Amino acid sequence: MTDQKKTELLGMSQTELEDFVVSISEPKFRARQLYKWIYQKQTASFYDMSDIPRDLRFKLDDIAQISIPRFLKQRVSQDGTRKFLLEMNDKKRVETVIIPQTHEKNTQYTVCISSQVGCPIGCAFCATGAGGFQRNLLAYEIAGQVLSSRRELAKRLKRNEIDLITNVVYMGMGEPLLNYDEMIKSVYMLNEHNGINIGQRHITISTAGEVSGIKRLLQEDLQLTLAISLHACDNDLRNELVPINKKYPLEMLLDAAREYSKKSNRRVTFEYVLLDEVNTRKKDAEAMIKLLKPILANVNLIPYNEVSGLDFKRPSNHRINQFYQWLTAGGLNVTLREERGTDIEAACGQLAAKKDRQT
Ligand code: SAH
Ligand code: SF4
Repeated sequence: MTDQKKTELLGMSQTELEDFVVSISEPKFRARQLYKWIYQKQTASFYDMSDIPRDLRFKLDDIAQISIPRFLKQRVSQDGTRKFLLEMNDKKRVETVIIPQTHEKNTQYTVCISSQVGCPIGCAFCATGAGGFQRNLLAYEIAGQVLSSRRELAKRLKRNEIDLITNVVYMGMGEPLLNYDEMIKSVYMLNEHNGINIGQRHITISTAGEVSGIKRLLQEDLQLTLAISLHACDNDLRNELVPINKKYPLEMLLDAAREYSKKSNRRVTFEYVLLDEVNTRKKDAEAMIKLLKPILANVNLIPYNEVSGLDFKRPSNHRINQFYQWLTAGGLNVTLREERGTDIEAACGQLAAKKDRQT
């Protein structure tokens, strides 16, 4: 059960937990125990904390809570990708995608997390955007998706290594840079060495082009990977596809990207969703080469995952390959995204959890 009057422990650092236990007249070292239960063992129930005295467990349950997002259901793809439907305290739901990556028989996982319920940007081709915006997620609701994912995965796979999940991408529902403060707090939570312990370079923030957020990110002393959802290389088309382009046109976006790669000395990833007859013509490839050649960039092509009710189509495989060839011939560093989870609508841009739509 959750209760507004209870103190939320999820999201607290070890020092904050120390202040909390001291405030309820308990010894400081209890904070270390709590920290471990929450962030290393994904435990939401005080009753399971076996090294904490029984009386204290009851006391904690009266006054505090640990709101790791509740797992409601999953769908499992033929390729092993899972989509989890998770619920927050106020019953708002988000989808989180867990993608296996196998290297030499060892499988580790990337989790694709949501930063908002819905999204206010409203890109023309995106299922999340089409559903409108409901609210920002709090830092512990964002990082908590990784804890839920780890707990549920460990249970299902009967594996409980702490590093089962090695990568986190902010590519689920929502625009992370429009929820900057909570997003960045969640990054610090994920990165905490004694806690969830995801390396900075293993965290990717994907943005539709919130330039002021990219500039703030530049000020942080963090080695995050930045992914920019480009989708068009002229302002007219981009205004239509990614409406935030009207506020921050391509010139401003590219300046910010350049600055980010210079400061971090790393390549910025440009995501480009392939839409048939819209942005996959020869002249689109030429425009992209002109735009990105001078930048330290990786281009990630994402064949469009069709969304029912939206008019966009995925190009033929022939066209997808042709577009790829044009770009590589032009000297760009390009990858074609391997498609995962399409059969369970868990692919990029297909997340659209709603209360009344429970798949
Ligand atoms: N709001 C952020 C992050 C979430 S979207 C952003 O836009 O970057 C993650 C990626 O999926 C973005 O590149 C987005 O443009 C892309 N995407 C959205 N809908 C898609 C769809 N139906 N098929 C393929 N990619 C899609
Ligand atoms: Fe929002 Fe990203 Fe979807 Fe655009 S693509 S509507 S920014 S979630």
